[in-house]
Amino acid sequence: MTTAVPQEILDALTDVDMPRLPPEAGPSEAVRLAGIEVPVYRAGCVVVGSGAAGLRAAVEMKRRGDDVVIMSQSAWGGTSACSGSDKQTLHTANTADQGDNYKAMARAIRSGGAMDEDTAYVEAVGSSRMMASLQFLGLPLPQDPLGGTLRYQTDHDEVGRATSCGPRTSRLMVKVLAEEAIRLAVPFYNQTTAVKILTEGEGADRHVVGILAMRAGGRTEENPLGIALYASDVIVLAAGGPGELYRDSVYPNGCFGSLGLALEAGVELVNLTESQFGIGTRREGFPWNLSGTYVQAIPHIYSVDADGVEHHFLAQYYRSTQELASNVFRKGYQWPFHATRMLDFGSSLVDLAISSETAAGRRVFMDFNRNPLPVPGDLPFSLERLDEDVRLYLGKAGADEEMPIDRLKHMNPLAIELYRRYKIDIAAEPLAFAVNNQHMNGGIMVDTWGRSNLAGCYAVGEAAGTHGVTRPGGAALNAGQVFGTRAAEHISASGRAKRASTDDMSGIAEAGIADLLSALRAESPLTVKSIRAEVQARMSDKAGIICNRQSVAQALIEARKLNADIRAEGVAYDRTAEAIRGMQWRQMALASEAVLSALDYFIRKGGGSRGARAICDAEGESLPLASAGPLEEYRFRREREADRDEQIVVRLEGDKIRLSRRANRTFDESARSFFERDWPAWLTGRIYDLTADD
Ligand SMILES: Cc1cc2nc3c(=O)[nH]c(=O)nc-3n(C[C@H](O)[C@H](O)[C@H](O)COP(=O)(O)OP(=O)(O)OC[C@H]3O[C@@H](n4cnc5c(N)ncnc54)[C@H](O)[C@@H]3O)c2cc1C
Repeated sequence: MTTAVPQEILDALTDVDMPRLPPEAGPSEAVRLAGIEVPVYRAGCVVVGSGAAGLRAAVEMKRRGDDVVIMSQSAWGGTSACSGSDKQTLHTANTADQGDNYKAMARAIRSGGAMDEDTAYVEAVGSSRMMASLQFLGLPLPQDPLGGTLRYQTDHDEVGRATSCGPRTSRLMVKVLAEEAIRLAVPFYNQTTAVKILTEGEGADRHVVGILAMRAGGRTEENPLGIALYASDVIVLAAGGPGELYRDSVYPNGCFGSLGLALEAGVELVNLTESQFGIGTRREGFPWNLSGTYVQAIPHIYSVDADGVEHHFLAQYYRSTQELASNVFRKGYQWPFHATRMLDFGSSLVDLAISSETAAGRRVFMDFNRNPLPVPGDLPFSLERLDEDVRLYLGKAGADEEMPIDRLKHMNPLAIELYRRYKIDIAAEPLAFAVNNQHMNGGIMVDTWGRSNLAGCYAVGEAAGTHGVTRPGGAALNAGQVFGTRAAEHISASGRAKRASTDDMSGIAEAGIADLLSALRAESPLTVKSIRAEVQARMSDKAGIICNRQSVAQALIEARKLNADIRAEGVAYDRTAEAIRGMQWRQMALASEAVLSALDYFIRKGGGSRGARAICDAEGESLPLASAGPLEEYRFRREREADRDEQIVVRLEGDKIRLSRRANRTFDESARSFFERDWPAWLTGRIYDLTADD
């Protein structure tokens, strides 16, 4: 950025106000079930979640004349509204200049493997439409004077398909979509948490009939837990990712997602082994990814032990000051940890070094007022002594200031501003950070219309398991927009959400409520606090970036035991809000067992290191090296090529997690559309494959 940007412009991109929600529509009736007076809300479709993905689905449905409502645990909570990074991005299929085509983009999206090829193409081909429609709704994506979108390169992106409206891109997306939802008068139920999906029928005939929710605001003497019944034959799960699963997490607080909710309803999940981890500040303070310019400014990274002694730990890993500094820079666009990047003194050695410092009880900091200290015996840091790619980038950006803070100010003043908003002045003091969990690539298994295996249940956004092993930065938001639209198109074409449900499902709802009540027991020794502490510590310590067969197997045994205890003893609570959290933690404990089951299965079957995790093994073929010598402790298994072609499917049967594998769906790149031949399928709605739902 060479022109100084006035403060008020920076402010507007950082402090994004959300619209006011309209008054809530009341219930259509109340029924007495399991001794409780339950309000009943009726809809054609209930969207669970008001992040960017859920709002997109709701808006697209409403525009097509469907009877849709949104329920949300927290209207402007969740990842889209409350997190982001300075590289919050969207995919931009290019016009001129950097050249691109949808098929190439699809290949890039699925390049890490374990991703359905047709899904990757759907996301690629849908991306331009998503971008254009968001611009139409008012999303301020940056343009050049001739209307081209400004773009840049991000993680797993060789072309430069990313764009951004600054650190709050996803919040701005929520804002424009929410404004549209309000304009279209989509009913909104805020502070409403879905706790149970209600179904009817058996086997292939099983289908959704509604959802039980809990609302602290809906408490009455006759309904002390604020239970509400939403009758609807169609639901869209858009509840985001399971951010609370890990202790070390850069998700905003209170992100639970819907993996446990889905499992309990017999919905199949996929790719649960795949997540993203990387450096950032944790949710205890201000959760934010330290990618992009934060690291491209090349701050000094160091740790402090319990006695307050500082350690220049990266110097034990890299051989020269130039190598150290260049790899810190590369975290800018190689942000997620990737096992293979620990080899050849690559950039993931930075993550490994940081996580082992943290595991040793040291705190790690980034200091923007110091350049990296020299590796002992080597020359001091200099902008002239950097690897060619790094020197060229900083040269092009004109970031030739002496200190990292000034280089950061030059390249991205918003980066400093953003932390100031949360009372952290990175220009004045070092910033504490760690390696954190950031994204769930797996989730509910869906087809190319967002349909799950349960009739009437769709999933979009991070709730859906549409990503493979790696995902280019920005692909999550794009996928949420594309699949939000696709699910809406499909639901609308089916005609099932045109009118509110009139079903009488008292019997099913009553059984569901009885089940909820039996899971919540005031006298249980298992509390929200104890379950959270156990699940989060286990996931961060045993299923983080460094894993091995024994510790994952042991973690799975412990996770199973916790779920058996929860089934036997229930979860304690004393206030309604805690009862809601109790239900969410019960589901999170189940989700954690599901993730560990998939990981254990993957490792036992010989699966190697890919994406988020290094599978350490004394017999492993890959050995990361550090300047001090080989890191035998972190010797890891190489990725097995065959694993790229399939996905692990997880489902709950009774109390047991069941695992299976399926091949990735394919996409024939040579197939071409032919207008006269293919038009009838569009005109008659055959493209929606609706017979599969009959
Ligand atoms: C720090 C960070 C940086 C990121 N950077 C990028 C990036 O640069 N580019 C990118 O593409 N992606 C990025 N991601 C990922 C991306 O932001 C998320 O995948 C995406 O925002 C998810 O959107 P969503 O609509 O699916 O879910 P969310 O935005 O999380 O919304 C979920 C909604 O569901 C509601 N909800 C949850 N459970 C329930 C329930 N039981 N009942 C009712 N409501 C419920 C919540 O209140 C919320 O409204 C980043 C993530 C993080 C954490």
